[in-house]
Amino acid sequence: MTAGRYFLQIPGPTNVPDRVLRAMDRPVPDHRGPELPALVREIVDGLRQVFQTTTGEIVLYPGSGTGGWEASIVNTLNPGDHVLAFNAGFFNHYYAECARRLGMTVDEVDLPWSHGVPADLVYERLRGDVGHTYRAVLVVHNETSTGVVSDVAAIREAIRAARHPALLLVDVVSALGSLDFRFDDWEVDVAVTGAQKGLMLPPGMAILCVGGRAIAASQRATSPRFFFDWRPVLEEMRRGYFTYTPATLMLYGLREALRMLLEEGILAVVARHARLAEAVRCAVGAWDLRIFCEDPRAYSNSLTAVVVPDGANADAVLRAAERINLSLGAGLGQLKGRAFRIGHLGALGDLEVLATIGGVEMALRMAGVPVPLGSGLAAAQVSLMTYYMAPRPTAPR
Ligand code: PLP
Repeated sequence: MTAGRYFLQIPGPTNVPDRVLRAMDRPVPDHRGPELPALVREIVDGLRQVFQTTTGEIVLYPGSGTGGWEASIVNTLNPGDHVLAFNAGFFNHYYAECARRLGMTVDEVDLPWSHGVPADLVYERLRGDVGHTYRAVLVVHNETSTGVVSDVAAIREAIRAARHPALLLVDVVSALGSLDFRFDDWEVDVAVTGAQKGLMLPPGMAILCVGGRAIAASQRATSPRFFFDWRPVLEEMRRGYFTYTPATLMLYGLREALRMLLEEGILAVVARHARLAEAVRCAVGAWDLRIFCEDPRAYSNSLTAVVVPDGANADAVLRAAERINLSLGAGLGQLKGRAFRIGHLGALGDLEVLATIGGVEMALRMAGVPVPLGSGLAAAQVSLMTYYMAPRPTAPR
């Protein structure tokens, strides 16, 4: 490792702020001891604010987003239940696959990966399901493999318009803490995330927000489950404890990360991600490279997937970047070798984005992609300066 900061610009895990690292640097507490309830209460309150819910309940597990998928399915569904899902990216596909392996009958609709899941398709499928056989709709809010956002509000509206009772299970792994996600307004039944992206923690936790309908479904669900059965976990967490040994040091980190997000303000966090993402997209435009997402309304503010020109290999860009202490995301699934991903989520500021863009430019050139040096950097600088030079309302005296 060379001197200076290592630039972990993959779309998660993200950089862990010093404040969070310091909060975790402490003796391991007794997880059945007296200090747990206040810690858990603050975390649950903070997460509710980040999920934008007053009604949803928080469930934590040691694990990762994949474990969260499994928990969302086994707690709400019975083996054999019909589920509507979408092959609209690597993670959308694997969420569907997770349900399939757990015994569900998954109707996985093939879609172009360059667009979000169309709400009108959800409407048509559900309208056509007159017997209400679908028990759930599975969707990824921010598809991390492609940098494409699906409009969860519109999907909820489609379910409502079709007068269909299916549950809405949403993967917010690379959305929460970065994009505007509204659990209550969008009447999401279960939202699933991990610790290691917008929440700025190291990997190691699955975090769920579950609504009343999902809790009711879990009382009836017949899927076998033990560790992931959220009923006893919810009961214990309401008292400030857990049924299993929690990742205690991560709880201290999570409390600190939530304090940071709430000090900045959730809407300000979302706006920061939008500003940084726009600067990255301006850079890609200046390089004359293609953003994989073909619908500008669906551009992700947490990552950008950049397609390399014919004849170039995206993996060569990654290898070149590693030489200058910069990690970029590889192309996944059908994007392998064709695209690389720039992560711009989590604990990140303007100058770090500029350094990243400068590094990507060098890596592209070293990998034989002839982008003009400085072009992306200048475009991003202009984009960021537009924000800083805009007139601000002055505070009333
Ligand atoms: N869903 C999305 C959108 C992801 O980006 C990821 C991982 O990157 C996962 C699910 C899987 O989560 P994990 O790797 O934490 O198990």
